[in-house]
Amino acid sequence: MTATTSMHLSIAGSLPCAQCGTALKRPVWSEPVDARQVRHLWNCSDCGYVFETLVFFCTGEGPEMAPPLAA
Ligand SMILES: [Zn+2]
Repeated sequence: MTATTSMHLSIAGSLPCAQCGTALKRPVWSEPVDARQVRHLWNCSDCGYVFETLVFFCTGEGPEMAPPLAA
């Protein structure tokens, strides 16, 4: 069975390499996309695979809804 590319994200834990499954401790690069998204760049030291993930943060400001339309 081949490994499927998963999008399991963890905020503080390790992330399995999408290619070989090695647990990557932390991204080699992180940059904020906006106030609620951070892009992580991962580089597996075992197989050299490079990939990136996008993490969305919940702000706890209530349900994510469009603002109600004023009639
Ligand atoms: Zn790997």
